[in-house]
Amino acid sequence: MSNETLQAVRGMNDILPDEAGLWLWFEDVVREWLESYGYRNIRMPLLEPTALFKRAIGEVTDIVEKEMYSFEDSLNGDHLTLRPEGTASCVRAALQHNLLYNAPQRLYYGGAMFRHERPQKGRYRQFHQFGVEALGFVGPDIDAEMILMCARLWKKLSIRDVTLQLNTLGDAASRQRHREKLIAYFGRHSGDLDADAARRLHSNPLRILDSKNPAMQTLIEGAPRLMDELDDEALKHFAAVQEILRRHEVAFEINTRLVRGLDYYNRTVFEWVTTRLGAQGTLCAGGRFDGLIEQIGGKPAPACGFAMGIERLLALLQEGGMNCPPQELDVYLVHQGELADAMASGVAEQLRDAGLRVLLHCGGGSFKSQMKKADASNAACAVIIGDDEARAGQATLKPLRGGEQVCVALGELPGRINELIK
Ligand code: ATP
Ligand code: MG
Repeated sequence: MSNETLQAVRGMNDILPDEAGLWLWFEDVVREWLESYGYRNIRMPLLEPTALFKRAIGEVTDIVEKEMYSFEDSLNGDHLTLRPEGTASCVRAALQHNLLYNAPQRLYYGGAMFRHERPQKGRYRQFHQFGVEALGFVGPDIDAEMILMCARLWKKLSIRDVTLQLNTLGDAASRQRHREKLIAYFGRHSGDLDADAARRLHSNPLRILDSKNPAMQTLIEGAPRLMDELDDEALKHFAAVQEILRRHEVAFEINTRLVRGLDYYNRTVFEWVTTRLGAQGTLCAGGRFDGLIEQIGGKPAPACGFAMGIERLLALLQEGGMNCPPQELDVYLVHQGELADAMASGVAEQLRDAGLRVLLHCGGGSFKSQMKKADASNAACAVIIGDDEARAGQATLKPLRGGEQVCVALGELPGRINELIK
């Protein structure tokens, strides 16, 4: 057997304790923010039937074509996929458990997503999202609410350098008309298409508009615009979303090239983008997906949602100078001697009963070496018990951020510590 140290899978990161504090803080902020809009938490499995994503996201999307971790269960042959996103699972869960029966639902979830992409800054193979879904709402009020929510979160986090891009994809009929025009247009210029575009010409021509290939840009600029095909209802919906945003003074840019990478969107789509993170600048993306619930087997119902990338948001916060304070500890408990050692864990429990955060020294060692650890621990004070103190039912309380040490009866210890750390 090899003794080589094993490494994490490429593109999948460990979040170490020094950084995890920032995650915990961020998760608290996000939870509070979502609850302030009445969204309720839902938790879905990380593994789903592969068919779910094929059906929801679309066979000819980047995700389904080349980014999914799919495998056959070696025990029963089931085709499974590590979720690349949460919307499909969330809708599947809502339908499976009849959540939409007679009542719309405002739902959110957080957690790991998996995509087999080329790892780089802001792009990982296991990454984390918060996803927000409003199922059963026709909008445009809910579309606007989702955008306003994001604006509030940026404010809460003091994020300034982020802009809102907005577009509408219209409805099925206008998309069909547009699709035919696109196929005709790109078909006339088939010599100028790259391999991806040529492959997509008949399966998913809308995605050609999303191409990042510089050589294709002039051709794309001249392509028929979906905006010109939209029917009145979709236009009215889009105008109403914009009207609400204006009323709330949320600035936006209409970007008719914004088509999103997933097939299920219609009408409103949006992205919040920053220029401070290089190429991976989309922090948060979403839109309306009125067809998805039916596509997954439910009774037709409209819906809208978005997801934000937690790694990218935290990178932006860190880039702006945010770092998290080290984890707080009230007491480092030092003890030496047979009697003191026997008492120490009881004293630690008593202090925890009083609501204090206590690190009990374990593993022995001299007073001097234990005190060194106490000093390095970032605790507010050390409680020191030797056999003399133990016999007298006392402890020495030593403030670690300046101040004199005192001898305290064990019964008074919690009160004295609380005074000290106030
Ligand atoms: P991109 O265009 O950057 O590939 P996307 O359109 O594939 O993004 P969505 O599926 O809309 O992304 O996911 C929503 C958000 O999740 C993105 O805006 C981004 O912040 C984050 N995200 C997506 N893929 C990754 C990844 N591989 N690593 C880190 N974050 C990601
Ligand atoms: Mg992507």
